[in-house]
Amino acid sequence: MTTISANLQAVLARIRSAAQCCGRSPDDVRLVAVSKTQPAAFVREAAAAGQLAFGENYVQEGVTKITAVGLPNLEWHFIGPLQGNKTRPIAEAFHWVHSVDRLRIAERLSAQRPETLPPLQACLQINISGEKTKSGIAPDDALSLATRIAQLPRLKLRGLMTIPEACDDFAQQRQPFRQLRELFDHLNNHGLALDTLSMGMSNDLEAAIAEGATLVRVGTALFGERHTS
Ligand SMILES: *Cc1c(COP(=O)(O)O)cnc(C)c1O
Repeated sequence: MTTISANLQAVLARIRSAAQCCGRSPDDVRLVAVSKTQPAAFVREAAAAGQLAFGENYVQEGVTKITAVGLPNLEWHFIGPLQGNKTRPIAEAFHWVHSVDRLRIAERLSAQRPETLPPLQACLQINISGEKTKSGIAPDDALSLATRIAQLPRLKLRGLMTIPEACDDFAQQRQPFRQLRELFDHLNNHGLALDTLSMGMSNDLEAAIAEGATLVRVGTALFGERHTS
């Protein structure tokens, strides 16, 4: 077994036991393998081991890698910061975008989504802890933005995503994830039909699953330390 395939089995086992711990079905938690900065060969290795969903943070790197990997059955998630002038390649090459944080960007993605493809699956990125990281919208703005984005014809609003401050304490890790889940429930109680809570990474996926994550985004635990060049 290669390292990546062994790592994948270990991460899937963590997901299973975290789900079982809180009485959830492991099938309700999807794994997105975050391959940013990692070579196309690593993606192919993970795909050969059965992993089908991959996440990328940078537009150019992601688009180049999607082509280089060359496997048509994979599902690609854009999870990095969005810039207004770089939406088209995302609309054309990705299946999901997790980091929508402004109406204008959502409108562009919808307008640029090719008619030949199904709608682009989207999550709103929420800055739940309101801390230093400026990425994501304030929880108070989520309902009005989600309501407008849900009406765009070529996007399908699926849920919410957050990246909390890193911390090592399990109880503390759960806090922002619980807040995101409460916001998710609040939006659904106001007429939205969200089914995706994108939260949890290598270090905190157990806490995220305990609070209801339906999709975890895991990089380091699968592929090792990131390659930066
Ligand atoms: C890099 C990244 C991840 C993966 O983080 P790891 O700690 O390596 O698992 C998940 N989500 C987002 C948005 C990222 O940028």
